[in-house]
Amino acid sequence: MSYRGRFAPSPTGPLHAGSLVSALASFLDARAHGGRWIVRIEDVDAPRTVSGAADEILATLDHFGMHSDEPPVWQSERGAAYAAAFARLQATGLIYPCGCTRREIADSLVNAHARHATLAYPGTCRNGLHGKPARAWRLRVPDGDATIVTFEDRWQGTQTQNLATEVGDFALKRADGLWAYQLAVVVDDADAGITHVVRGADLLDSTARQIYLQECLGVPTPAYLHVPVVNNDIGEKLSKQTGAAPLDRNAPLGALVEAARHLGIDVPAGSLDTFYSAATAEWAKRFAR
Ligand code: GLU
Repeated sequence: MSYRGRFAPSPTGPLHAGSLVSALASFLDARAHGGRWIVRIEDVDAPRTVSGAADEILATLDHFGMHSDEPPVWQSERGAAYAAAFARLQATGLIYPCGCTRREIADSLVNAHARHATLAYPGTCRNGLHGKPARAWRLRVPDGDATIVTFEDRWQGTQTQNLATEVGDFALKRADGLWAYQLAVVVDDADAGITHVVRGADLLDSTARQIYLQECLGVPTPAYLHVPVVNNDIGEKLSKQTGAAPLDRNAPLGALVEAARHLGIDVPAGSLDTFYSAATAEWAKRFAR
């Protein structure tokens, strides 16, 4: 197997201490395996994309000594690949149009108080639009035990999700006409031959959907490793919305040492070269299998 990993930032703002942890973990895992590391700019969600943010992220990664081994992939240039995958699923009858508004879905949810981050879509439009115009397009999730997805996360251990009860049929094309993140990420990982996905634990909840979608499309499932997210002082995940400060491009080492520490790796700050070789060696002891 030749290892291919990736870091897939959404260009909604500059890199911060939280996104640096995901970048570093994916980079160290690739280096520890002697593999390739590829940056993908996840700008499929055009309305959330901030102009200039992608270039800023790429420049920061460069200053921090993390260079994509191949030219970065831009989701905004991959519409044809998403459309082709969508058409294949459509041809097998796995996709149906949905006319529900968010409000209607919320109103009809039987388990609206379930603890899960994603509330299951109740399947209202499975057998027809009932005269409503099509808004989104959803992928059918089978009922029963076939819907239970189990995978071994290299950091978090065994994970199980019942797609039917916890997620329901999920959107691949959104009501605003954009491709959904779940479709884009699965098609991109498959086309890039990604063998190992290393990212933040906030995406743990999406992984079962992605594995099911890989099965529907007949593409391989990569290995997954989800690193703990970085929280701010009041326990919220660091993000632009929760006030994360942008990384200082001219002071990479302190931030890198801090990010490594979050990953349980204690290495002294020396030069970028000594940092990366020590951190890679530490990571390899834990994860190079
Ligand atoms: N673009 C996503 C983010 O920035 C990451 C997606 C992924 O790694 O699969 O949170």
